[in-house]
Amino acid sequence: MAKSPETEHPNKVFGWGARDKSGVLSPFHFSRRDNGENDVTVKILFCGVCHTDLHTIKNDWGYTYYPVVPGHEIVGIATKVGKNVTKFKEGDRVGVGVIAGSCQSCESCDQDLENYCPQMSFTYNAIASDGTKNYGGYSENIVVDQRFVLRFPENLPSDSGAPLLCAGITVYSPMKYYGMTEAGKHLGVAGLGGLGHVAVKIGKAFGLKVTVISSSSKKEEEAINHLGADSFLVTSDPQKMKAAIGTMDYIIDTISAVHALYPLLGLLKVNGKLIALGLPEKPLELPMFPLVLGRKMVGGSDVGGLKETQEMLDFCAKHNITADIELIKMDEINSAMERLAKSDVRYRFVIDVANSLSPP
Ligand code: NAP
Ligand code: ZN
Repeated sequence: MAKSPETEHPNKVFGWGARDKSGVLSPFHFSRRDNGENDVTVKILFCGVCHTDLHTIKNDWGYTYYPVVPGHEIVGIATKVGKNVTKFKEGDRVGVGVIAGSCQSCESCDQDLENYCPQMSFTYNAIASDGTKNYGGYSENIVVDQRFVLRFPENLPSDSGAPLLCAGITVYSPMKYYGMTEAGKHLGVAGLGGLGHVAVKIGKAFGLKVTVISSSSKKEEEAINHLGADSFLVTSDPQKMKAAIGTMDYIIDTISAVHALYPLLGLLKVNGKLIALGLPEKPLELPMFPLVLGRKMVGGSDVGGLKETQEMLDFCAKHNITADIELIKMDEINSAMERLAKSDVRYRFVIDVANSLSPP
């Protein structure tokens, strides 16, 4: 008989998980493997709340294996290191992001692109190489192979730095890969949420002109005066949208719901690139005319490899880039998820795990 989540491994762990597609999170007891020779055990201090956590607990994509403990923007302290671990020692402040395992021997892994390894396993809602389930960062601790652990730069705060582990690398990696870093070029950021607001900050650090493309004017003042965006476009304002046609070199599309690509593609110049990062639950319609007539391209990108994630953390530390966060207690997570579903967060919820997760 299959063992229960609580007994399959020796180490009892407490966290919050969802049991079904209502997505309601509640206290959950499970277990984690013993710290192996290559592993680091991390006592979790803070964990960001990504929209992927929300898609997953609601089974938006149809492949959630309940019970699920979300959380892949984890900052904590290494409390145990295996005998082969060279990168970390006990007491180090470390990060764990979206990826917790990969084959470590394929072409993608050899190129430090573990994120595209066919056997890559996510930090949660995934099966590890030992056949047991991965549970994420809404919990006391996590055990991860050292390859998937990040050094957390000294001057990055643990709470507002945590979202960089997913939101940060997810926007940084395509900017580098697709050549979207040339100072003076014009970047549009569609969707001003967790990913979007970090894209604005990273875009500014590369010297780009940044325009936020948003569904309402609610975030306009903050985007300009606080996040550093150069301008703000509301998609429902036909006059301003028309005036902006053909003005952007690149667009990073972080919108989490089904939306029209046509108006966004119209904003691009000839040879412009739209890189889609959002994962709406249904496919989008891809209009061919603006693509073909303007030699434009649409691409995608999935987080980033571990080497590049470290590079991004160091880049953010150097440029003093952190997320704007609303710090919450573990038992506030369900109302936070309701607000996240309504795009009502400035701009990332982060759970104060160490100070608010107490076993019943
Ligand atoms: P988020 O904080 O909820 O931000 C998404 C933003 O999209 C919202 O703030 C809102 O911006 C806009 N939006 C939401 N619903 C909309 C609608 N119906 N119409 C138009 N705009 C809408 O989410 P996030 O954490 O940044 O994640 C964004 C998406 O990226 C999610 O689908 C997530 O799963 C995905 N993701 C992908 C990767 C990857 O590797 N590719 C990694 C992480 C997350 P405004 O208020 O400005 O309109
Ligand atoms: Zn994420």
